[in-house]
Amino acid sequence: MTDHQMLQSIAGSLRHGSSDDVLSIVDPSTGTELTTGLSANASDVDAAVSSARAAFAGWSRTTPAERSELLLRWADELSTRSEEFIALESRNGGKAIKLARGFDIPGVIDNVAFFAAIARNLEGKATGEYSGDHTSSIRREPIGVVGSIAPWNYPLQMAAWKILPAIAAGNTIVLKPSELTPLTTLLFAETAVTAGIPAGVINVVTGPGSTVGQTLVEHPDVNMVSFTGSTRVGRSVAATAAGSVKRVHLELGGKAPFVVFDDADVEAAARGAVAGSLINAGQDCTAATRAYVQRPLYDQFVERVAELMNGVRVGPTDDPSTDMGSLISIAQRDNVAAMVDRARDAGAKVVCGGGAPSDQPDAGAYYEPTLIVNAAQDSEIVQNEIFGPVLVCLPFDTDDEGLALANDTPYGLAASAWSTNVFRAQRASREIQAGCVWINDHIPIISEMPHGGYKASGFGKDMSTYSFDEYTNIKHVMSDITSAAHKGWHDLIFTAG
Ligand code: NDP
Repeated sequence: MTDHQMLQSIAGSLRHGSSDDVLSIVDPSTGTELTTGLSANASDVDAAVSSARAAFAGWSRTTPAERSELLLRWADELSTRSEEFIALESRNGGKAIKLARGFDIPGVIDNVAFFAAIARNLEGKATGEYSGDHTSSIRREPIGVVGSIAPWNYPLQMAAWKILPAIAAGNTIVLKPSELTPLTTLLFAETAVTAGIPAGVINVVTGPGSTVGQTLVEHPDVNMVSFTGSTRVGRSVAATAAGSVKRVHLELGGKAPFVVFDDADVEAAARGAVAGSLINAGQDCTAATRAYVQRPLYDQFVERVAELMNGVRVGPTDDPSTDMGSLISIAQRDNVAAMVDRARDAGAKVVCGGGAPSDQPDAGAYYEPTLIVNAAQDSEIVQNEIFGPVLVCLPFDTDDEGLALANDTPYGLAASAWSTNVFRAQRASREIQAGCVWINDHIPIISEMPHGGYKASGFGKDMSTYSFDEYTNIKHVMSDITSAAHKGWHDLIFTAG
């Protein structure tokens, strides 16, 4: 037991899980084991929920200014220790260090600072005498203990997106990270305590989703469940949460279309497609996955994307010149490879990539930047999430056809439209069914604006003031101002006396 790292953070202290199951935490770019630890079990989930419940009494009564002050201190603490977070996120996620340094960690610090500001900005309708006989006012109240479940692709950002709006609004939280990538989430919780956030406000339980995650979602003392992950698991989380009528927030899979009209700047679109499809080795729910290109630009676009993809430097994650690291696991790499192979067998053409790079270690979960053409719209590679560095490109003729193809999957998380004609671009932003539509770009996110899906990509918003709608109950308080015993509306019910 003493050789294991403590992978649970409950009531402000790290501890070992109570299960005998050993979790092996690996650097997927080399296959090296970073650490081991014991998984949580149901008793740890109970302890974490009790700790969050106990902390709720005090935390929910802190003033917005007090919460804001603590979040600001936390942002400072994170900035001071940012190099530690960058190295750990890169190693545990197989991420190129420049992505962790330029995107993951600064994004999280900015999120903490943003939620420090909006903790003091709970909005609602003006208090007033809407009936004439009463004063109506709105209270926005924290919901209680939030149970959150996060995926492995951006471990720290996903944890932050769940934790920050919840605690800024006065809730307390128990978060279960992916069992593959708990390390930065545990450090995040530790730095919160160092910054002065009371023990028990943030708790982390690490273990498999099918046991630890399931127990958390079922737990009778959890008031709300927020989940980021696949649509398949999200569906089961929602069904489980329905058993105890918990509020549910679901951020699920995506299959973002990338629509290039024939007046687009083709160089900008090609560069955008490469960056948008290869970010985090394509393990991004908003990654560009389906490029629909209007026929006159199609050949030029395919040629330029292939050329740029062939120049992407795949390599060791700690090398600052590496563009793209590995996938999260050999299993994920094999899933991606199998999908590409099935597409090839069904007649699609692999223009570049399509295999593991020969110059990377066999034990690393690497896959080449891959461009595919000649796939059918209804094929698996076009319809299903790949979650790897793979872009499929298809031609279209009319604007209506391009937009219809963009909407033709079950998902609706994000999309982009590329055009130099403002009317075409605006029309695309209206017609595409997705929670975010970029115009002449693809990927950038900001703390001030919401992230969340349409259709099978789920519902509810992360980041922005909109996320407060998810993590607060809205209470209407209606006070009689007449002091009359006999109120006019009573006559509708009885006239006696
Ligand atoms: P999964 O859905 O497999 O897992 C997500 C989380 O759910 C993990 O922590 C997992 O635990 C847990 N889990 C699994 N089964 C259950 C269960 N029965 N009850 C409760 N929790 C459970 O997703 P991945 O981790 O593979 O992440 C990739 C997915 O996440 C992609 O589909 C991607 O699109 C989506 N995603 C969506 C985003 C969005 O904002 N919409 C953002 C980022 C990713 P464990 O794995 O530890 O067993």
